[in-house]
Amino acid sequence: MKTIIERIDAEQMNRETIEKAGRILRDGGLVAFPTETVYGLGADALNEQAAGKIYAAKGRPSDNPLIVHVADMESLTRITGTIPEKAGMIAREFWPGPLTMIFRKTRAVPFGTTGGLDTVAVRMPDHAIAREIIRAGGGFIAAPSANTSGRPSPTTAQHVEEDLAGKIDMVVDGGAVEIGVESTILDMTVEPPMILRPGAVTREMLESLVGKVSVDKTLIEPDSRKAPKAPGMKYRHYAPKADLTILEGDLSRVVEEINRLAAEKTAKGYKVGIIGTSETAGSYSIGNFKCIGTRQDETSVAGNLYGILRDFDSDGTDYIYSESFSTCGIGSAIMNRLQKAAGHRIIHVDK
Ligand code: AMP
Ligand code: MG
Repeated sequence: MKTIIERIDAEQMNRETIEKAGRILRDGGLVAFPTETVYGLGADALNEQAAGKIYAAKGRPSDNPLIVHVADMESLTRITGTIPEKAGMIAREFWPGPLTMIFRKTRAVPFGTTGGLDTVAVRMPDHAIAREIIRAGGGFIAAPSANTSGRPSPTTAQHVEEDLAGKIDMVVDGGAVEIGVESTILDMTVEPPMILRPGAVTREMLESLVGKVSVDKTLIEPDSRKAPKAPGMKYRHYAPKADLTILEGDLSRVVEEINRLAAEKTAKGYKVGIIGTSETAGSYSIGNFKCIGTRQDETSVAGNLYGILRDFDSDGTDYIYSESFSTCGIGSAIMNRLQKAAGHRIIHVDK
């Protein structure tokens, strides 16, 4: 299949590109497009066959449900049962935005979209191009990250092309995304609501609006043997090809230990990558250092995470050592993705 690739400017949106994307979606095809979190791979969520094509193109396990993207609140009633009062409050505050909520589904949503579940995950993205494409495509667009399953999520159209060119109908290139990690997932079918995946909308932000919010235990105790409540979280997502290890503890000791490990692996002939910050940029003496952002503003770290993991893949890196980050605010999403990418290989250095 030849993949159409079209650039579009959010400020001066080309209607022809939007209409073309919309037509492909309404005809049951696949279109990748930018959102504020990561690039999504869209298909008509109410068309089981179309949704099925997403699983094939990504190589995604069929029990891993899709998030349905909508462009306005009015669309909700067609796909969800009654909206709990708290969900209404949360939607008014955080939609459009990087937050997905889970509700009971109506019959309009095929089981092929929800991985067989009788609940549906819904999000309204805060991205003008995404919302125009959703509207043009019929209003209900299933859109998981537009990567091959198991690879880091795409934050640019080039990442999408690397993984999916030739396998999907169209890529709409709207430039690099803003946030860089996937949406927060909040289960509204339980009381109190439960976070199944951390993202840019944090527990603190949600709790200050609606009171207690719980967090899926498997996120807090990542080594626990229990299955995560979001089916997709059990897979080793976001994985680079290299062996990634996270080093935690006092930052100067972390730097020292990374230098030691990097020297050891380099001496054995391996290619070593290092993920550090602008605060530590001058501190590494060996290995391929990449600056992920600044500790003063961890949103910069979220924005660069997946791109850096992909860069190390194309460099043929064997071992990656990464500094760790706080678990406050967006830090909880960063550490969740980083730990998954590391397959939970974490070294704690002592003072
Ligand atoms: P992705 O869109 O690729 O970032 O992945 C979607 C995530 O949402 C996966 O981890 C899914 O398991 C989760 N998800 C989607 N629908 C549901 C649902 N109905 N219940 C629980 N988790 C869901
Ligand atoms: Mg994904």
